[in-house]
Amino acid sequence: MRTRTIGGESVALVGQGTWQMEHGRARAVDALRAGVDAGMTHIDTAEMYGGGAVEALVGEALEGLRDRVFLASKVLPQNASARGTARACEASLRRLRTDRLDLYMLHWPGPHPLEQTVAALERLVEQGKIRHFGVSNFDENEIEEAARIAGPGRVACNQLCYHLAERHIEQAVIPACERHGIAVVGYSPFGSGRFPRSRVLDDIAARHDATTRQVALAFLARRALVIPKAASRAHVLENAAAADLALAPEEVAAIDEAFPLRPRTQLPII
Ligand code: NAP
Repeated sequence: MRTRTIGGESVALVGQGTWQMEHGRARAVDALRAGVDAGMTHIDTAEMYGGGAVEALVGEALEGLRDRVFLASKVLPQNASARGTARACEASLRRLRTDRLDLYMLHWPGPHPLEQTVAALERLVEQGKIRHFGVSNFDENEIEEAARIAGPGRVACNQLCYHLAERHIEQAVIPACERHGIAVVGYSPFGSGRFPRSRVLDDIAARHDATTRQVALAFLARRALVIPKAASRAHVLENAAAADLALAPEEVAAIDEAFPLRPRTQLPII
């Protein structure tokens, strides 16, 4: 599996999202484990997902596999005060049946001053409860502010909505992250289940003996780590194989034309 760095560490280019995985628990556990075996070692979850039920499911799925994965979770903005962040992290660790997270993110900008949240995250790093911290759904101005508050090299990633029909972040957010060495993690790479039909994707997929979703992941993975959510073994294995798909420059250009960048006034958030 090809990798990209987050906080200086190699992380699988195609990881596994877990939003809404609480439905069909046994199948989801099996899919997550199959994904890890296939090299999808970046697992993304959040205290929000299923009100904690998804973290519990991930904890079950990672039984015996914890040391092979890069485990990421997120604190809800309303919980991200100095004390609240520490409390939320403890609860996530318990549900995930682990003593540390590899990455802990602020889920989106919220009511608590970012200085407080960052200080709490730094404390968790000192305590060995998290190895890196990051943010999610921060636009170009917010990421500049986060980088200023946290200091050089401290914000490990920014997790953002990124799929073929929603390439807004390519305009200013990805360049801002790149300026500060902040890894970009693209969420909802299949448009959260609304995957487009396209002759361009069909043709490229046929040429590579691949699927259109694999082509989409390969296109997005040029600029970001991607974390599709798949609750079946077959889907997971299909997505894992996308990490090895290299698109020719003319194929990238054709996709670029079929799914043009449409800058918006505000960062798209799901
Ligand atoms: P997504 O990954 O864009 O799409 C998920 C949908 O695609 C599911 O219906 C899944 O079906 C289907 N799918 C996956 N692989 C497939 C395949 N190979 N063939 C056919 N269908 C396939 O949606 P998402 O869950 O919104 O986003 C992914 C992850 O990003 C989330 O799970 C979460 O971890 C993260 N996220 C973060 C934020 C944030 O604010 N930071 C927001 C949204 C999402 P099955 O489940 O049946 O396999």
